[in-house]
Amino acid sequence: MTQVRTRFAPSPTGFMHLGGVRTALYNYLFAKKMGGKFILRIEDTDQERFVEGATEVIYDTLKACGMNWDEGPDVGGDYGPYVQSERKSLYLPYAQELVKKGAAYYCFCTKEELDERRSAAEARGEVFKYDKHCLRLSQEEIQRKLDAGVPYVIRLNCPTEGESSYDDVVFGHIAFPNSDLDDMVLIKQDGMPTYNFANVIDDHLMGITHVMRGMEYLSSTPKYNLLYNAFGWEIPQYIHLTTVMRDAQHKLSKRDGDAYYSDFISKGYLTEALINYLALVGWNPGTDQEFFTMDELIDAFDIHRLNNSPGIFDVTKLDWMNSQYVARMDADKYLEMAKPWFDRELAGKNIDYRRLAELMQSRTDIFSRIPEKIRFLAELPDYDTAIFFNKKQKSDESVAREVLPLLLPVLEGIGEWTEQNIHDTVMVAIPTWGKKNGQVLWPMRIAISGQESTPGGAFEIAYLLGREETLRRIGVALEKLGR
Ligand code: GLU
Repeated sequence: MTQVRTRFAPSPTGFMHLGGVRTALYNYLFAKKMGGKFILRIEDTDQERFVEGATEVIYDTLKACGMNWDEGPDVGGDYGPYVQSERKSLYLPYAQELVKKGAAYYCFCTKEELDERRSAAEARGEVFKYDKHCLRLSQEEIQRKLDAGVPYVIRLNCPTEGESSYDDVVFGHIAFPNSDLDDMVLIKQDGMPTYNFANVIDDHLMGITHVMRGMEYLSSTPKYNLLYNAFGWEIPQYIHLTTVMRDAQHKLSKRDGDAYYSDFISKGYLTEALINYLALVGWNPGTDQEFFTMDELIDAFDIHRLNNSPGIFDVTKLDWMNSQYVARMDADKYLEMAKPWFDRELAGKNIDYRRLAELMQSRTDIFSRIPEKIRFLAELPDYDTAIFFNKKQKSDESVAREVLPLLLPVLEGIGEWTEQNIHDTVMVAIPTWGKKNGQVLWPMRIAISGQESTPGGAFEIAYLLGREETLRRIGVALEKLGR
């Protein structure tokens, strides 16, 4: 059996769309699963302008995701070069071969002529298709124009009757009437190939056995097959992937900041969680398993379980999955990743980050939400004293008015300001005041945090704040309570 060879063929735009990351992932998983090769090819021929650093974005993203390519621009391989613009000169002879075979032809129509015919067709309410005008030129006329240096493109000569069909792994049997096919351009006026031509030539020359890509290419594929047939080349297996959607109506969009891999990384998602989740948007393992390492994905991956309905990228689900990954992180690694987010609120404050990290790890779904959760440590929020009321803790404003003044000297008298000492001292004092734990600990935590929900309890927060700030905040509470 021939070795499976898949390819990821991005155009360097400067960003990696999540849909692209998923396409790369499925190509990678399938190649690895089959003991085959995963090839990276940069498709930069249709590029209007060069985007500085765009290729690095592709490399960096794939590397960060753990998808290592076996052949590609930087690592080489037997089928290079792997950058289309470096292959420029090899496409024209193939197009000329097709012209000789009658499968393609020179077209000298100018842009103005085409525009005119397009407008006329549209005025008649028709969709414009190239009308094969130049197919009718005589051999002599063509030669005369070529000799005179008249600019030309080379077009594919599509059949106009019958239908073209192929079998797609995801979408099944696909058939299009040939009357829909447009005689697409293979070689542009500047001698460069179009994407439509280059991808076929390259896939063939690179020995690609399975073409896995976005479903926007589903309808052009019959034209690619005409090319394969004209050359007498073997057609690869096609695996078209549905679009990654935000919901049933909307695509992920740049404007909403949910389209690019980098958007998610800068919001503090973990690459492993993102990859795990993306794998499941469009593919189902056929079991209940939700958490997969890359190796497990390779093991479980099956192209016959790719969905043919759009994959919904549910950020809420991703957040949940991310939080599960965060919870399982090594504590040191968590601290290292959380530190810049702690710094956003607490830089320059003398706060025990290691302890804070212990308290925050299980409360972190995505890292960018850390600052809002720890802001109260930097600055006491303005709060309404009504929150001193808590039925279950048997606390209210008057209880707070009573216990907070008792707490002040007790806290002041603690020797070393450790969590343990704060705990022990306060717990010993509570029964002597004839109070239930909640009647002291609730008001204490409200007073020093200014909010009902906090990471950690009264002792942890008091410890993190330090003695001075703890006492100051209790003072503020007493003022608010009118004492
Ligand atoms: N360069 C194309 C793109 O970025 C690749 C399409 C393909 O995989 O054939 O959409």
